[in-house]
Amino acid sequence: MSNLYGGIEAGGTKFVCAIGTGPDDLRETRFPTTTPGETINRAIAFFREQQQSLAAIGIGSFGPIDIHADSPTYGFITTTPKPGWANVDLVGEITRAFNVPVGFDTDVNGAALGEHRWGAAQRLDTFIYLTIGTGIGGGGLASGKLLHGLIHPEMAHGYLPHDRARDPFDGVCPFHGDCFEGLASGPAMEKRWQQRAENLPIDHPAWALEAHYIALALMNYICILSPQRIILGGGVMEQAELFPMIRREVQQLLNGYIHSPEILERIDNYIVPPGLGKRAGVLGAIALAQAIV
Ligand code: ADP
Ligand code: ZN
Repeated sequence: MSNLYGGIEAGGTKFVCAIGTGPDDLRETRFPTTTPGETINRAIAFFREQQQSLAAIGIGSFGPIDIHADSPTYGFITTTPKPGWANVDLVGEITRAFNVPVGFDTDVNGAALGEHRWGAAQRLDTFIYLTIGTGIGGGGLASGKLLHGLIHPEMAHGYLPHDRARDPFDGVCPFHGDCFEGLASGPAMEKRWQQRAENLPIDHPAWALEAHYIALALMNYICILSPQRIILGGGVMEQAELFPMIRREVQQLLNGYIHSPEILERIDNYIVPPGLGKRAGVLGAIALAQAIV
């Protein structure tokens, strides 16, 4: 059997495809997410061009997706508001093209698995990986297993306290308005402040508000899941100043109640960027492939 794996990070904005075994030997390509037919065909063409046999392919996908093996729509992207992409049989298309085992999970569960194998979550058994970009998504492991459950976590669609005196913005989530994603995704920042997040200066009040929402969400995750670490990735977290602001506010919100030195003394090591940087997603897809065989 081949010892090479394929990985597809299926994002709402771009796809990243790679072949390899881990961080040291990855060959990758990236292209924009257009129509399902065109985009999936580009992914298939990439793997064919490599002319290597693959042991398995892993797909970490934007969602919501169906990851229940006994479901008739297993492997589908299900209810996404992204035009054209609802009810797309992603796993079916890749399986028919290559006839190898296909590992399938959310992009963030994939990234969490990659971080567990090679990145910032090595040797941990319970942690969260959160991406804050075009959307917000969360995944992770609990007691050593990827979080699945009823569907899969949708950590960014819960409500947070929304002080409309401080922030009158209604939010952008098409399902919930001012849920966490609706208030704090990149597009939410852009709509609220009328400029893209990367163009907002660091002394702009946007950042304190963004840190506030992220800290509120992390407080909930800490109280519910008791994660040993929280990894924050995605385009918005490229604003590195957010990290100290979030850490400080998480400590303030918890107010000494969770009695762990990880939070009280070592929070710089508790709320961290991905160890794999921007490659967390695609390496996560490789890790999903390795997990299926
Ligand atoms: P996606 O979520 O589509 O995979 P990203 O994780 O790159 O893509 O997130 C894109 C979002 O991140 C956009 O809303 C963009 O405005 C924002 N963003 C990109 N770069 C930065 C930056 N340096 N600082 C703050 N926000 C950024
Ligand atoms: Zn929502």
